[in-house]
Amino acid sequence: MRYVSTRGTAPRRRFSEILLEGLAPDGGLYVPESLPRLEPGALRGKSYAELACAVLQPLMDDVPGLDALVRRAYRPAVFGSDAITPLATLEPGLHLLRLSNGPTLAFKDLAMQLLGELFESALARSGATLNILGATSGDTGSAAEHAMRGKRGIRVFMLSPHGRMSAFQRAQMYCLQDANLHNLAVKGTFDDCQDLVKAVNADAEFKARYRIGAVNSINWARVAAQVVYYFKGYFAATRSDGQEVSFAVPSGNFGNIYAGYVARAMGLPVRRLILATNENDVLDEFFRTGRYRARGAAVPTSSPSMDIAKASNFERYVFDLVGRDGARVSDLWAELERRGEFDLAALKARIAASGFASGTSRHADRLATIRAVHERFGVVVDPHTADGVKVGLEHREPGVPLICLETALPAKFAETIREALGREPERPPGFEGLEALPQRYEVIAADAAALKRRIAASAD
Ligand SMILES: *Cc1c(COP(=O)(O)O)cnc(C)c1O
Repeated sequence: MRYVSTRGTAPRRRFSEILLEGLAPDGGLYVPESLPRLEPGALRGKSYAELACAVLQPLMDDVPGLDALVRRAYRPAVFGSDAITPLATLEPGLHLLRLSNGPTLAFKDLAMQLLGELFESALARSGATLNILGATSGDTGSAAEHAMRGKRGIRVFMLSPHGRMSAFQRAQMYCLQDANLHNLAVKGTFDDCQDLVKAVNADAEFKARYRIGAVNSINWARVAAQVVYYFKGYFAATRSDGQEVSFAVPSGNFGNIYAGYVARAMGLPVRRLILATNENDVLDEFFRTGRYRARGAAVPTSSPSMDIAKASNFERYVFDLVGRDGARVSDLWAELERRGEFDLAALKARIAASGFASGTSRHADRLATIRAVHERFGVVVDPHTADGVKVGLEHREPGVPLICLETALPAKFAETIREALGREPERPPGFEGLEALPQRYEVIAADAAALKRRIAASAD
């Protein structure tokens, strides 16, 4: 399998060559040159790890020992059940795909656990080391650290906005004592953290010298890993291979739902990919109007992991929409820089054919959905999942099973659960007293030069 850049001018690369990278040298994102078609009928009945091997093999065909890495990443002991992503049926034809039973209780564990194995194995083969620099508003950082803890050849420098994460999120990340993890709490916002990552990566000499790597959501391996659970959910919710299903996906950076789009392109019978945004509704507007209008900054909401102003993976989808014309994508993103928007309303028919539907869920909808799901089905969903359920139900069609992706457990977002239900969310075993564990982090200024010195001091 060869990978090409969405901006069209970077050289074609193999999977192992793009594994440790963020953006392609031309500023684009890597995508497979063509997607393999799978026969769903041949995959029914496989375990999660078997399914992951079958789906990922053609996409990662130059990784030695891929099967063993996949089996290590998706162990029942790590994800709490043999199913790894169990399906809960709320009523006939309405399901929750539980993606949040990994070490940090959010779906990002599913991709990060595999990334940890792939990174460690690639570095062991080349004898190189890697310094991962990332920014988190909450879920990504802890999923990355739990996946990379103790991994040989890997150090993690994770920037988080000082004092702006929930107590649970803070505890989950800062409690890790592994020597290869460095929690850097930045005096500033999440946007400041992201700007610092960009500033360090813009210094090509520093980046090369200290082998700076990325685990952000544009990493292709993360997208690929997420394709697997769409297949898993499909088989759990259907009995026959012709049956179409729809998925409802709480979205921010467009990584999760884009994986669903890839699954559909690989042959999974998906009728609709229902995209839910919170108050940050750039993507909903796009799918309703064909206009993409970037906002200056995201507004803070009670589904914080979807507070994204610019959906980074969206470029991969647009590349397909414009007929895989990299020059056209470059022009569109130049226009976005210049005018803050671009308009693809002329491609409306193609957008419709790609299977997307969309909607927005706001704070009051979120609370009402948490209450309604609890009353009707006796299940407590987290605020992000509630956004997905709300919009999913608006687009539900008779005779088409609807699978709502559960992207986090309610225990991570106790404040909103208290507001909706007047009580504390349940905590899974092992998370009692998390906030009381000793925490390890350093507070740093939002200053790129100081950050580089800090990285250099721990890297060798
Ligand atoms: C990251 C995240 C999302 C958004 O997923 P994208 O891939 O960025 O669209 C939704 N819910 C939760 C809980 C998350 O952590």
